Amino acid sequence: MSHALIQIQDRIAAAEARAGRPAGSVTLVAVSKTQPWEHIAPVLDAVQKVYGENRVQEAMERWGQRRLGLELRLIGPLQTNKAREAVGFFDVIETLDRDRLARVLAEEIQRAGKAPRLYVQVNIGEEEQKAGIAPAEADAFIKACRETYGLTIEGLMCIPPVGADPAPHFASLRAIAERNGVEKLSMGMSDDFEVAIAEGATSVRVGSAIFGSRT
Ligand SMILES: *Cc1c(COP(=O)(O)O)cnc(C)c1O
Repeated sequence: MSHALIQIQDRIAAAEARAGRPAGSVTLVAVSKTQPWEHIAPVLDAVQKVYGENRVQEAMERWGQRRLGLELRLIGPLQTNKAREAVGFFDVIETLDRDRLARVLAEEIQRAGKAPRLYVQVNIGEEEQKAGIAPAEADAFIKACRETYGLTIEGLMCIPPVGADPAPHFASLRAIAERNGVEKLSMGMSDDFEVAIAEGATSVRVGSAIFGSRT
């Protein structure tokens, strides 16, 4: 049993209830990047099925032999030269954020005959160092993903600036999703997932609050 996992599940359920949202409407993505296996095993035993990873190679090493029955999500930046492996391995890619990557993913999806579910990452705080399409370019980019590249966009993803009130950032991501007819929102991490649920998150990406801090 993983005590921390149960606590997070309870907090998600409470946040759903407070927001007047149906129980189970928020998916918990357990972010296992850089964690030693002894931190992950009890969470896996507690039947957590959805995991987030930052790097293609690390994810394949960690999960390749135990892939069955799990949902694996890429939540870190994707280089185009890793797109083939990522399409082959992940159920969800949450970090589609530029034209060239959209084009390469479309080619690899064609080639593989299977498509991961795709989220567009938006650089919601317009931070220099962060990945993601600029908010002002998001509408055009989503349109290009759909019309130029024939991709289905399941959701939007963001990481708000550290130290800022995340609520307005989550609200702007939701506004972009609504005006583009995008259904899902991946937002909220260990420190702010309850705020994200109040703002409409359909999945939250929680790492350290489940597994302990990454050293
Ligand atoms: C590491 C990471 C998380 C998890 O962060 P915690 O603060 O440990 O919950 C969530 N999303 C992304 C994109 C990450 O890189």
